[in-house]
Amino acid sequence: MQRIYLDHNATTPVDEEVLEAMAPFVQKQFGNPSSLHHWGREARRAVEQAREEVALLIGAEDPAEIFFTSGGSEADNLALKGVAFPYWKQGKQIITSQVEHPAVLSTCRLLETYGYRVTYLPVDRYGQVDPADLEAALTPETILVSIMHANNEVGTIQPVAELATLAKEKGVLFHTDAVQSVGKIPVDVKALGVDLLSLSGHKLYAPKGIGALYVRKGTPLWPLISGGHQEGGLRAGTENVAGIVALGKACAIARRVMKQEGERLARLRDRLQEGICTTIPGVSLNGHPTQRLPTTVNLSFHGVEGEALLIHLDLQGVAVSTGSACSSGRLEPSHVLEAMGLTPEESKSAIRFSLGRGNTEEEITSVLDLLPPIVEQLRLTSLLWEEKA
Ligand SMILES: *Cc1c(COP(=O)(O)O)cnc(C)c1O
Repeated sequence: MQRIYLDHNATTPVDEEVLEAMAPFVQKQFGNPSSLHHWGREARRAVEQAREEVALLIGAEDPAEIFFTSGGSEADNLALKGVAFPYWKQGKQIITSQVEHPAVLSTCRLLETYGYRVTYLPVDRYGQVDPADLEAALTPETILVSIMHANNEVGTIQPVAELATLAKEKGVLFHTDAVQSVGKIPVDVKALGVDLLSLSGHKLYAPKGIGALYVRKGTPLWPLISGGHQEGGLRAGTENVAGIVALGKACAIARRVMKQEGERLARLRDRLQEGICTTIPGVSLNGHPTQRLPTTVNLSFHGVEGEALLIHLDLQGVAVSTGSACSSGRLEPSHVLEAMGLTPEESKSAIRFSLGRGNTEEEITSVLDLLPPIVEQLRLTSLLWEEKA
């Protein structure tokens, strides 16, 4: 069976060039970057070169502002807890949004149990935060604003530059989770005006278990992991050298191909979206019509259980994702779609298609052929659909 992978927002395959670059550091070049001998120096050189590549991709002034972590979740945790703890005497309010990734939302919930006050800003029906809401929420107690750059479920891009300006005017630090945008659209920490920015390797064709946090020089931050002096004392533990080299290479490739790939994938994505919406009735778009990642389209197929659609597509070799998160065996409607004002039914009928480098015109054609009969068949047995029809 031909398999078609349309779930790149969940994870991406490792690029061949990335694998080639990291392979020596898995085995032969095994040195500890902290060692002073030949092996150590070779590893150190590779780590610092990777740091430069990451800095270049996101427009950081100094590679020393890049701190490697175990991934996006750790970078988010480091940004939030790392700022919250040193500021605990000065102010206890953190502002975020209702559509953040669980790595941010759960961390905020945890900080609430330590006495921090968290404001969860609402979003409009496209998933965007209104800068006026942020302005109204900022108080002298606010120590940090954390708003994601692009949403993983619907692809909506937030007006981060505008939001960060508002925070800056009040002297408040600004973090953005850019895990979904780095490598897909231009991300420049100076243009965005952010103090902290999270990214993750496995969302940009590097392996899982490596990521980074950009920390603007002078930003006060406490480590989550203490021990050795690695990463400027901000993240102890012998470096994941192979992972770091992989992330560096992935960033170098992204810099090279991003523009062209972005345009190609946007065309494929638009063809997929328009094809589905013109051949299948009762489909609506979730996410911003234009302010959206070029790779993502999230659609509600009314009268269809998203989970059932996912399973039928999987049987035909097509990998997608639903708008619901499976926790403890129960399907919870997505907190993102709920915040955007969708009903539980609309939310449960959502499917996310996320495209990436491997996808071709032919694959989109196949999906456009496969999908209508599956939806039609599922609707035959759907009470919800009959009610509407
Ligand atoms: C995937 C993802 C994360 C988590 O990154 P990991 O490297 O898997 O820990 C955080 N935020 C967003 C928006 C993501 O899509």
